[in-house]
Amino acid sequence: MTKWHDFFQKGGKAPPWPYPIRYDQEQEIETDVLVIGGGIAGCWAAISAARTGATVALVEKGDTIRSGAGGPGCDHWCHVPANPHSKVDPDEWAKKMNEYPGILGTLQKDPVKCPYANGIGTQIQCRENYDTLLEMEQMGGKIRDVDDEYIGAEGRYDDTKFMFSPRVSPNHSTEVVIRIWGTTFKPALKKECKRLGVKIYDRVMVTSLLTEGGIQGARVVGATGFSNRTGEFMAFKSKAAVLATAGDFSLWMLNTELSGYNTFRSRNSTGDGVAMAWRAGAELTLMERTGILMLGTGYKHTWYGGAGDASYENIQLVDANGKKLPWPLQGWPDGGAMRPSPEDMEKIYKGVQTGEYALPFYGDFPGMPDIERKVTWKLMLGEESTTKIITKTYEKAGFDPSKHLLQNYSFIEGTSPSQWRNAGGGGPVIDWDLKSTLDGLYVAGEQTFSAGDHSYAASTGRYAGRKAADYSRQIGEGKISRDQVALEKARIYAPIKHSEGIDWKELHAGIARTMQYFCSEFKTELLLNMGLDSLKDIEENHVPRLYALDPHKLMRSIEDLSLLTHGQIVLNASLARRASSQLLNFFRIDYPELDPTEWCKFVTVKLENGKVKAGELPINYWGDMKANYESHNKDYTGVYKG
Ligand SMILES: Cc1cc2nc3c(=O)[nH]c(=O)nc-3n(C[C@H](O)[C@H](O)[C@H](O)COP(=O)(O)OP(=O)(O)OC[C@H]3O[C@@H](n4cnc5c(N)ncnc54)[C@H](O)[C@@H]3O)c2cc1C
Repeated sequence: MTKWHDFFQKGGKAPPWPYPIRYDQEQEIETDVLVIGGGIAGCWAAISAARTGATVALVEKGDTIRSGAGGPGCDHWCHVPANPHSKVDPDEWAKKMNEYPGILGTLQKDPVKCPYANGIGTQIQCRENYDTLLEMEQMGGKIRDVDDEYIGAEGRYDDTKFMFSPRVSPNHSTEVVIRIWGTTFKPALKKECKRLGVKIYDRVMVTSLLTEGGIQGARVVGATGFSNRTGEFMAFKSKAAVLATAGDFSLWMLNTELSGYNTFRSRNSTGDGVAMAWRAGAELTLMERTGILMLGTGYKHTWYGGAGDASYENIQLVDANGKKLPWPLQGWPDGGAMRPSPEDMEKIYKGVQTGEYALPFYGDFPGMPDIERKVTWKLMLGEESTTKIITKTYEKAGFDPSKHLLQNYSFIEGTSPSQWRNAGGGGPVIDWDLKSTLDGLYVAGEQTFSAGDHSYAASTGRYAGRKAADYSRQIGEGKISRDQVALEKARIYAPIKHSEGIDWKELHAGIARTMQYFCSEFKTELLLNMGLDSLKDIEENHVPRLYALDPHKLMRSIEDLSLLTHGQIVLNASLARRASSQLLNFFRIDYPELDPTEWCKFVTVKLENGKVKAGELPINYWGDMKANYESHNKDYTGVYKG
């Protein structure tokens, strides 16, 4: 492999930028529904809006065919309680998810006092994601074992050929998670968008929302963006917009050498959506919640090769001497946990210290029944995501799962340092139409607070698309403020006016450092205010020195500005919550009591006339989930029959 260093040593010159530069050009695009972000939620929103006859523009920073966290694939379609083999009632399941956040993912036994769930999104997921899955199949996605490759595998039903995850359905008592061929999904979604006439703008970064009269808090009437290849400016004029840019996985960390950013999530998830919603005046909630980075940072692996635990759900762990660990597989008592109970983890930990269990640990592939090994290796790892690359690379190197064990890194590496965090689970406040507090702005997928995963993104995207289309039919055209457009143009093109100063990496590193220092594991009012001061300093003294030499670097620079805004939101929300909370991973040294009853509520923040305004909402502000879902969806017709 030739390295850049060798290339330059041999007299090589940096290749010229391969696309025409058009910073001075502008396109104005008019549409009924504008979808921002072409990931899972965005594609589904575009498709369902287009099915109603609305004109739809879909704007995506990467290439819709594989962009986003779900682009490369996925292996579990979670929480699909309306499927024919389900043993649970969808409404009851949604209620349970609302009371026990993380169900199927943790060993939570007692209802959580302050669950901070999203009752609206969960109800939609439980009611509609089976329909969504069937629609996926209509579009060409593979959702069942039609080729009879896995006959005899645990969890496979011969009549429907659906394959259920045994891990999350102990003794087949629930059957709510279906294993699927997720690598087929994203290309099918893009194809369907095209078939329906959705105008796709790939490689365009959306940078701001446009509001009626340019007023903060007014109806959203469009958005701005630019091509990250040519630099051309785009002004989108819309009757309704769906925000679906997912989260932000880089606010506490920049790691260009080991993993680019954070290998587990899309490189493009840099908090742009939340930053633009904030600037437009939308009310946000749970912005104070963070999680410690656990996966895919490049600093830490769970399994050799870097994939997560979920895809390895059936594998018995053994120690270096082949001794079985109490790291059970199928039929886990609580169902769905990726890890043994805290008690068993403690036993293993002690066992490691006393020599009872010898490190390293391994996944015992050869010890598995042939069909289960095939399911894990070929279907789960093959379809999950970039894990396909891992299995292919291993095979090429001679790894044979029927003969070889695969190393697992648990207990060799500790957890990630606590200052490296993910912004987690905050987003715009939404109502039963998935509408934000701004007219004309809808929200879907991981952009919503307390979001679920792939099937949640799909079903909420599908829902938000049809609601946005409904709204666009009832409302007249909005008027774009040219002054607002001009201000945004000045903001985003500032970095191309310089050719030296601070580049995007340095700025990003500074923002991440601020968050690590002042908004880390333990928080105090003083630290949080110091964080705000530090970001202000960056904003006033360093941002004006940002330079970008091409449209791609310009995109990275504008992403930094989203990170900066996102950091300010997190710090403000953290100041507003004057209590600690286990579930929010939020610990204030100055307010140490964990989850006191009076703080068991959503804290909200928004910008009003440029000033931060904090507020609150009750923990179940959405009311009766079943009744409200039904009253808002009287016209819902199920699977598309078009
Ligand atoms: C490795 C991996 C494996 C996973 N496996 C599973 C699984 O098996 N089952 C499961 O349920 N879930 C799984 N997930 C989670 C699932 O992929 C996500 O929950 C889902 O993709 C979220 O959908 P989304 O549309 O909200 O976000 P994404 O799919 O990430 O889409 C967001 C899109 O917005 C675009 N974007 C961002 N900013 C802008 C901007 N400013 N302008 C324009 N576009 C923008 C991004 O490029 C991206 O395409 C996995 C995730 C990963 C990373």
